[in-house]
Amino acid sequence: MNIHEFQGKSLLRAYNVDIQEGFVAETPEQAVMVAGQLKEKFGSEYFVVKAQIHAGGRGKGGGVKLARSAEEAGRLAEQMIGMQLITPQTGPGGKRVNRVLIAQDVYYKGESEPKEFYVSILLDRSKGRYIILYSPQGGMSIEEVAEKTPDLIFTEEINPGIGLQLFQCRNIAFNLGLSGISFKNMQKFLSGIYETFIGCDAQLLEVNPVLKTSDNRILAVDCKLVLDDNALYRHPDLAEMRDITEEDPVEVEAGNYNLNFVKLDGNVGCMVNGAGLAMATMDIIKLSGGSPANFLDVGGGASAKTVEAGFRIILKDPAVKAILINIFGGIVRCDRVANGVVEAYKSIGKINIPVIVRLQGTNAREAKDIIDNSGLAVSSAISFKEAAERVKFALNDN
Ligand code: GDP
Ligand code: MN
Repeated sequence: MNIHEFQGKSLLRAYNVDIQEGFVAETPEQAVMVAGQLKEKFGSEYFVVKAQIHAGGRGKGGGVKLARSAEEAGRLAEQMIGMQLITPQTGPGGKRVNRVLIAQDVYYKGESEPKEFYVSILLDRSKGRYIILYSPQGGMSIEEVAEKTPDLIFTEEINPGIGLQLFQCRNIAFNLGLSGISFKNMQKFLSGIYETFIGCDAQLLEVNPVLKTSDNRILAVDCKLVLDDNALYRHPDLAEMRDITEEDPVEVEAGNYNLNFVKLDGNVGCMVNGAGLAMATMDIIKLSGGSPANFLDVGGGASAKTVEAGFRIILKDPAVKAILINIFGGIVRCDRVANGVVEAYKSIGKINIPVIVRLQGTNAREAKDIIDNSGLAVSSAISFKEAAERVKFALNDN
């Protein structure tokens, strides 16, 4: 699960990591007000207005802007809230900005120049180790650094049983070229982000940039935190941070029915039980000259209700020219699924595209009879090949 920058920063702060402080605003008036609060609390003269969307690269797309007064922060917030922000990570449609983070400007000039670093923590499954990936080249995308200056990317492996060791923090701070107070502050920063990562059961924690301020503080200026869905039951407070307006609405609806749904851009909708069979079905759709419009795994116990929900979700896509239902009756009996299909079909009303149902396994014969005798415009098949041929036929016919 992804969360917003402001939520990630609030978690970092709870683990005693120093952050670029800020408050969220949903209106320009709130933006002016919280900028005033930042000035009072932290003495900030300048502010940054940051669009809160689940995508990075906001700086490049105009989603991070400097304001030289609280009023200017209000004006920038007014421009940003409600806009479709397009960044290298959003896709061409962009993402709607519902709120902005008004943060203190931490790039002030002083005894030394501010300097940006890159630090992230992730899990390397093949090694069974956590990895801290870091670079003295911060601020820009790490993919770009990897391409242009791969020698500026460093890693530190952490044994999860032992945890992050002090010598490792020193090694990292050294490789980042720090010394004196900033060296010490970086050690504290690193142990803080590691605690956050472990404490939240995160999959990824990326801070880019980590900033050494001109007075040698080490701050998290940005925060991308990806939480492990499978561990969310242990963190009801984190689960509440989910923002479904950031997710694909059709995928959210499918999730509500416990359906595993991924939207694709083809013309044949498919409904299958089991991920492996779903992959094979997508292959057979390709072989028959079509292309899959989605991946949909209805799970082991497909009931009439889930089949109906699956139908409705697939039919929302205007690009769908045929639907292939491919169910293997192992735990679930084929005749039960067939009845589910017939019921769903009747309850939805007129379905204007061909539906091909292939049921194989327990009671497959009975299931075929149920479909064939239903009087509905659904064609049934028992073999995979036959189903593929029917899909081809249906596409050519349309
Ligand atoms: P991203 O583009 O979505 O990764 O958003 P970031 O939070 O990383 O911000 C993008 C860029 O904005 C940073 O790399 C900085 O160069 C700049 N930026 C962020 N905070 C400040 C700030 O307080 N002052 C100034 N002057 N620039 C900032
Ligand atoms: Mn960033």
